Amino acid sequence: MPEPVPVVAVPVPVEPEVVDPRSLLTWKRGAFGRTLIYTQLQQQGVEGGDIHRIIDLLTPVYNFRKSHPEHMWEVGFHEDGRLAAFTLKVSPVEIYDINDLDTEAVLQRREIETFTETKTVRGTIDISLFGALAEEPQTAVLAGKLAKVFAWDIDFYKDPRQGDHFDMLVEAKYVRNDDGVHFLEYGEILAARYQGAFDTYDAFAFDAGDGELGYYNSEGKSLVREMMRSPLKLQRVTSRFNKNRFHPVLKRRRPHNGVDYGAPRNTPVMAVASGRVVRAGRYGGAGIAVEIKHRNKILTQYFHLNKIAKGVHVGSRVKQGEVIGYVGKTGYATGYHLHFGMKRNGRYVDPLAQKFPPSTPVPQELRGAFQTKVAHYLTQIDGVDNRNVLVRKAGDSAGEKTSQAD
Ligand SMILES: [Zn+2]
Repeated sequence: MPEPVPVVAVPVPVEPEVVDPRSLLTWKRGAFGRTLIYTQLQQQGVEGGDIHRIIDLLTPVYNFRKSHPEHMWEVGFHEDGRLAAFTLKVSPVEIYDINDLDTEAVLQRREIETFTETKTVRGTIDISLFGALAEEPQTAVLAGKLAKVFAWDIDFYKDPRQGDHFDMLVEAKYVRNDDGVHFLEYGEILAARYQGAFDTYDAFAFDAGDGELGYYNSEGKSLVREMMRSPLKLQRVTSRFNKNRFHPVLKRRRPHNGVDYGAPRNTPVMAVASGRVVRAGRYGGAGIAVEIKHRNKILTQYFHLNKIAKGVHVGSRVKQGEVIGYVGKTGYATGYHLHFGMKRNGRYVDPLAQKFPPSTPVPQELRGAFQTKVAHYLTQIDGVDNRNVLVRKAGDSAGEKTSQAD
């Protein structure tokens, strides 16, 4: 029988406790403001030579002429009052440290830890989408992202009603630094559901193989349509397409080959689909006009503009939703409005009567992966909420209906 092996206590290496030398310093803080940084540091007892040294070290990374009251400085002193360190906080992610100011000072950009979490945001419309998100940081950015996801189905200026409910999963980026965790910015909306008085819509972000996130309904149909419903975000039809209209300026019967949208001066006008600009400039009674040629022999016209957007000229390519000009009343126009015309195969058609199919759905070979993702998102969206019962009842036809502007 072998001798029992004596138990030997193996010393566990003790991690030396790391003490941040900066934590031993006495810090004074201030904001860049109207007072020069020089004066502020002088008031803290920093000598002129040291101030110049700090400014010289920071100059390559910081423009002192663009100082802003949100930019913070901190100066650290040893116990005996000697100057030790300086920190510049431009933002929660842009922080510069100068250590060892009493010896060989070096400037370092601080390593910042950022992380992304999926955040669930729910809201109920009282007056507007904006109001429903008022409690969230960067309200306008978040409202804009949600409006963009549903841009083809919901007109957020017109459609939302009191009591409409929405849920979304959105990436939220945070930064962790010495004074805690700060919200930084939103990433992509991963999933969203809008339960409106008019209909229910679902949107799920998915990369269908081209490296970019697109939005699809639960059946994998794209939310993006070949054409947007309107070239204006805020739409108010003041005159419809009419083959036999009495023209208010010309005082005679003349077909109205398009739709007029009343809108304030300089309201941005968007290209309803991507295409190539074939006209950009003065065009008789149309005033300042833009015409865009799209796929499938479709041409769109935007008349009476106050001005054309920068970069838009004959031959330039524009993307769907890109601002191409601003509402005006140039040419034969009684008031500020946009005349929006459409030609198919060279003939005028009523833009409001056209139906455009959604663009490419999730390809067949990725359907499985897509459904898995949707199921995953739905569990998160439904979460603690049991509103899903109601949603199922409302039907899974989200994205199917194309509501028409009235
Ligand atoms: Zn018109």
